Amino acid sequence: MEHFLKHRIMMYFLKKMPIIKYYNRAYFAKLKKFLQFFLMKLLHPDMPKITGIELSNFCCLECPNCPTPVTKFHKGFASDENIKLALKYGTIMEPFSFHRHGEPFMHKDFLKYLEIATNMGYRTVVSTNGILLDDEKIKKLAQIRPYDMEISLHTKESVAAFKKMTQYLLDNDIELPSFYGNVLSHNEEDVYKWLDELEVSKEIRKYLRRIYSHSWAGNVESRKTDYDSDIVKRRVKNCYFIKSNYVSVRWDGSIVACCMDSENETVIGSLNDVFNTKQNKNGYALCMHCDASWVNKYEAHEVKGIGQNEL
Ligand code: SF4
Ligand code: SF4
Repeated sequence: MEHFLKHRIMMYFLKKMPIIKYYNRAYFAKLKKFLQFFLMKLLHPDMPKITGIELSNFCCLECPNCPTPVTKFHKGFASDENIKLALKYGTIMEPFSFHRHGEPFMHKDFLKYLEIATNMGYRTVVSTNGILLDDEKIKKLAQIRPYDMEISLHTKESVAAFKKMTQYLLDNDIELPSFYGNVLSHNEEDVYKWLDELEVSKEIRKYLRRIYSHSWAGNVESRKTDYDSDIVKRRVKNCYFIKSNYVSVRWDGSIVACCMDSENETVIGSLNDVFNTKQNKNGYALCMHCDASWVNKYEAHEVKGIGQNEL
């Protein structure tokens, strides 16, 4: 009896943990996806890892640290067909996101596909500037409960949306496995000012974290740097896209080497030919300018004294 009670109490607390709660639903959809993926991997062991699709490269902001407002790559929205293909070939139990260069809420069916992907067992990621987050969307997001949600604090409106969303989660006792308001290093002074002006409480500020702003592999012209070839070689070796065969899917179904590639310079395949898509282990011309934190092993953080999750 004592053992039974201990077991029940332990299960009660385990079920309350956000990650357990996250997977504790839609068992049939998850089983189906798992079996499909297992079979696909068996037949095509070298297939690339697809961890999302860009729903659109349109955005409602024009941030100076981003290539999206000035990109020469054509603009558009992912079709239902491409989204379904990305969900079909996606890697199970890995993150699945809907952003690359653009704001996912610009796509009218974002929340519909977010819910489908979440129920399939992907670790779904929402990364937004918060501008289009209204009460209805906040409620729906809280109901879907994605694995990871990040609101990048580019403007005062983004901070207001972060405040509102966090308060809603707290009021309704909803804990996502991962939830953050991202303070980007290039405009952090502004963010602190907006946080004070909007009287954001200490309780809400616990969900803030600092992120080092990179140059999108030189696609932000004002911050472009030509790195020394030894540094580039080391960074290509560290790059998890190349090392682990992750790839990035654009809204039009083209597959590029990584999420830095706003201009589609590194096209290596398409959603219609996933099994023949391969990373170039030697890297790409784009890598000459890459300063993303995952390729420099957080060197930039150390140099500037900026760490993550410090706030
Ligand atoms: S940084 Fe994000 S919010 Fe700003 S322009 Fe780029 S995609 Fe839009
Ligand atoms: S540009 Fe950077 S992130 Fe992209 S493939 Fe090269 S090293 Fe990796």
